[in-house]
Amino acid sequence: MTNSCNIIDGKKIAQDVLSSLKRQISDMAAKPVLAVMSVGDDEASRIYVRNKEKAAADIGMECRLLHFGNTVTEKELLEVIGALNEDENVNGIIIQQPLPCHLNTACLVEAVRACKDVDGFGPVNLGLLQVNSPEAVIAATPKGVLRLIKSTQVKLAGKHAVIIGRSNIVGKPLASLLLNQDCTITVAHSKTVGLPALVRQADIIVAACGCAKLVKSDWVKDGAVLVDVGINRGSDGRLCGDIDFEALAGRNVRITPVPGGVGPMTVAMLLENTWQAYKKQKNIL
Ligand code: NAD
Repeated sequence: MTNSCNIIDGKKIAQDVLSSLKRQISDMAAKPVLAVMSVGDDEASRIYVRNKEKAAADIGMECRLLHFGNTVTEKELLEVIGALNEDENVNGIIIQQPLPCHLNTACLVEAVRACKDVDGFGPVNLGLLQVNSPEAVIAATPKGVLRLIKSTQVKLAGKHAVIIGRSNIVGKPLASLLLNQDCTITVAHSKTVGLPALVRQADIIVAACGCAKLVKSDWVKDGAVLVDVGINRGSDGRLCGDIDFEALAGRNVRITPVPGGVGPMTVAMLLENTWQAYKKQKNIL
């Protein structure tokens, strides 16, 4: 088993964030409100929404669930988003993905007002991130990944980070985020040639490709920091990440586990974004 002092404990770091949010929210007369829109009956989405709802309740935040059947139209959803944008009691709005394919996800995400886009998926916030604006709402998973890397006290400037995965919600925003920290970035994807050799150069490795145990121990140099975003079922049926965690046992690396790494941080960062949106909307410094 990996030496426990080398494990980056996402569960503990997330819990610290949530405890701090709970303390700050308890001083407020009105609770922050997060609206969560979901469509259809995707089982994984149901679990994610339940986790967000529970974490919000634990810290005294209201989570308003708006669930729609599979036949809901884009027009109907746009009307709901419009009303939530105007509702001054709603501080954050998220649209749980994936959406059924008759709905245009980009169009719906774009309709969420930027200051309430606590997922940070809209074009305004992605653009603000690109230009390193402090006004950007940073997507929860990349924000959590950066927080986990920083928890190791590694000096980021000049480090080579290899990110495996280029999705709009993880890989791409994370590349901007780490670039803004003066890292040198390589973004790898399914068409990348010679991935092991690229990863071997990395000081920081973030795996976000959804391929069980893709990153092998002999791809990783000593002293590397590894963050595993992936959530997969291994061939043994157990939950595992994109990195071969067990194979890195005893190695001189720091690594997040799955579960207990990025997952809890994603929820904590979403609620932190909602709290920050609430403060901005109420002019609380
Ligand atoms: P995605 O399917 O949108 O993107 C996957 C990316 O990985 C693509 O860019 C693809 O080109 C790349 N890829 C696929 N196979 C590859 C390979 N063999 N080599 C190199 N690159 C490869 O996925 P996503 O939404 O970014 O999610 C990635 C993983 O992270 C999934 O397992 C997902 O469940 C997980 N995830 C976890 C959290 C969390 O909170 N823990 C949040 C978001 C996503």
